[in-house]
Amino acid sequence: MIKPKFKETIPVFFVNNEIHIGEEDGVAGVIEDPNGSIQYLISLIDGENTIETIIEKVILKYPDITAEEVQGAIQSLNEEKYLEDNAITPTLMGEYEKERYKANLNFFSLFTSLEDSKFDIQEKVMNTKIALLGVGGLGSQILYHLAALGFHNITALDFDTLELSNFNRQLLYSEENIDELKIEMAKKRISKFNPNVKLDIVNKRIECAEDVMNHIQDSEYVICVADKPTLYIQDWVNEAVVKLGKPLVSGGVLNTRGRFYSIIPGKTGCVECHKHTVIASDEKVNDQLNNMNQVNFQRNNAAISPNVAMLAGAMVNEFLGLVTGIKHPTSLGKMMELNFLTYQTYSISEWEKQEECSVCNSTSVTATS
Ligand SMILES: [Zn+2]
Repeated sequence: MIKPKFKETIPVFFVNNEIHIGEEDGVAGVIEDPNGSIQYLISLIDGENTIETIIEKVILKYPDITAEEVQGAIQSLNEEKYLEDNAITPTLMGEYEKERYKANLNFFSLFTSLEDSKFDIQEKVMNTKIALLGVGGLGSQILYHLAALGFHNITALDFDTLELSNFNRQLLYSEENIDELKIEMAKKRISKFNPNVKLDIVNKRIECAEDVMNHIQDSEYVICVADKPTLYIQDWVNEAVVKLGKPLVSGGVLNTRGRFYSIIPGKTGCVECHKHTVIASDEKVNDQLNNMNQVNFQRNNAAISPNVAMLAGAMVNEFLGLVTGIKHPTSLGKMMELNFLTYQTYSISEWEKQEECSVCNSTSVTATS
């Protein structure tokens, strides 16, 4: 039985004979309530009463109001996403998880109504298996975000050691660990930050698409921020995710801008499709992409921590949308650019799945998302 209540993120307050509900850009929904019946209705939407009980109580006190009108009012509040079902309990989460991810749950509740559950979204996050390629500048911040969100199943790969010059943006690590493997330090730090995260680590330099396939085969989703070897890694990762049908979010820092894209094999075009369409039709874009390859992934990149954090945040938000469906990923089949100086985000190229794409045609995949 549904027991509606106002979400914890939705303020409800009464001013004279008006009811103000919710705050979006400082503007609340305002309902006039001359005889107090709506205030009474709202007082009953407390998570203890079922819809049937609420209707009974309202029409008992206000006989002029019909059951249909009360039902309609509750439905309107539900359509505005003001309500959640207090009778829903989590399947997997205990009190610890409910507390640790409390603000996550409040955020997820913004996207739910009486028919669905914020707990389902958090549990989906907790159960999803991710392969992360690279734990350098972007990767170490992404890993932190993933652990904070409650992604409990992560396999991460890297081969690099810590250097003094990493610490202007790689917040996961400590200076005392200079010359040690980043991937091992990442595991140490994450295990303290969120002990629920099962972080499997692989110390390896990617040398071909098969290496990528081996790393991602047991995961459902892939995030790639690995940057070496510069000219090949994106093609190898693309080939691997398309062959295995794993959705991908990928990106990198390009001085004053960040770029990122997402693909769902079998649904959107892949990196090779991108080359077929955009590059073939526009030399300028071709130059841009070559530029990205040449400049983006150099070791001595111009990258400061706040910019890396912005891009990491955007990419993890895209990834969260991809996994949970709370938002449609903006970067699906698109090269998105985030300007670090203006904070603007825009698409610089878009592409569809191409019939003649050699990578997409090399295998028949079923999209997993
Ligand atoms: Zn393709």
